[in-house]
Amino acid sequence: MSDTQELRAVFRTYKRAASLLRDVLQGPTQDLEIAFRLTAGKDRPTSGEFSAGAGVDRHAVLLRPFMDPSSPIELRAVWTRLLALGLIGAPRVAEVEAAFAASEALTFPVAVNGENLSARDVYFAYGEGEYFREDEVARARLVAMSVGPMPQLVQLLFHDACAGFSAVVFAVLDALLECEGQLPESGEAGPGLRTCIYCRGSDGDFGPEEHVIPESLGGDAVVIRNCVCAGCNNRLSTLDKALLDFQPLAMLRAVFGPMTKKGKFPKARLRDIDIERTAPRHVRITQKTGKPLPAPAREEDGSVRFTVTGMGTKPADPVLLGRALVKIALGLVAHDAGSAAALDPRYDAARAFVMTGAPFATHLVMVPTAKPHGQIRTWWQPSAEGTLVALNLFGLELGLSLEPSPVRMPDEVDGVRILSFWLGEPQDAHGVADTDGTQ
Ligand SMILES: [Zn+2]
Repeated sequence: MSDTQELRAVFRTYKRAASLLRDVLQGPTQDLEIAFRLTAGKDRPTSGEFSAGAGVDRHAVLLRPFMDPSSPIELRAVWTRLLALGLIGAPRVAEVEAAFAASEALTFPVAVNGENLSARDVYFAYGEGEYFREDEVARARLVAMSVGPMPQLVQLLFHDACAGFSAVVFAVLDALLECEGQLPESGEAGPGLRTCIYCRGSDGDFGPEEHVIPESLGGDAVVIRNCVCAGCNNRLSTLDKALLDFQPLAMLRAVFGPMTKKGKFPKARLRDIDIERTAPRHVRITQKTGKPLPAPAREEDGSVRFTVTGMGTKPADPVLLGRALVKIALGLVAHDAGSAAALDPRYDAARAFVMTGAPFATHLVMVPTAKPHGQIRTWWQPSAEGTLVALNLFGLELGLSLEPSPVRMPDEVDGVRILSFWLGEPQDAHGVADTDGTQ
């Protein structure tokens, strides 16, 4: 991919993220209100109370990609790249620099151990130390800032800092738009040079980019270009939906998944429980019978253990689920090894299975007990037995072969139960009876 193509992709990601942020900021004003009340009395210690409208968490989460140093659209990194293009007029440069400078100031000065804090200090101490994750160094800084009524005050300053950084997002966006129009033609592959990795067609529009892992699972980084035709992109989106609706994954996604495209936290509704995230690290589980859930137990390592029993509302369809996973797997091959590798005839049976559900002589293997975590991990490798693929989606482990060959797995490995679903013709069942989707 040329530098210009890569830059255009960064621009697209930036514009999409900025438009989500704008939607929240243009929502009802009371949703973005934050309040801090200090209570002081003769007989009790001073305490503070923080309250926030419904959009405050959404705002902070949608701002995150612009602040996270590992993100491709981190504000300072994008600004540095824009400046290097030399395409922005001096007045615009001054405007953006001023927005950056203004965003560093806190509403009122706060000093810790004689050191004046910037909005960035507060953002990272609270954001990394408590809000998004629990980084030890940030946690220590946060504790140092959190004296007396200060814990809630830091929270207020954090959200206040978010408002300042959002102003920078839109200042940089204006500069980005100014540059975008002046970029040289990208020289992307013309029609005829592209072949769709699913239908092998070359006609029509190929769209700007395709997410290998559905965006709703947070697979932002794994994108392929000029590999999927618009027809397949459209037609096969039902498979992504089938995967997201697969209830064990829906439950994990409610806890670990990113916000939806509408800027809402994902939810999972099962027959007897609802799982819903209300803040970056806050999950609410509601038992519909009204029976209280057993209290969570705190383990020695600080983690929390609790048990909920959720009954799905519908049985899973292993063929639909299998097609969704094979679609991802072919995309992974294209992403890691190039579209020519994904177009290898050895994957034609997999392609037909994705497109039509035609019997595919292999197994879908799943570990029904998930150890939940917040990550999506992928692994694939061609071998004598076929191309083996393993996906770990927030702790749910799935495996398959991209070539017609049975993945023979015992029903149990080291005490862990393993489910195998045969995806081929029924008579080829190789003695594996578990094809009805029961768990
Ligand atoms: Zn296609």
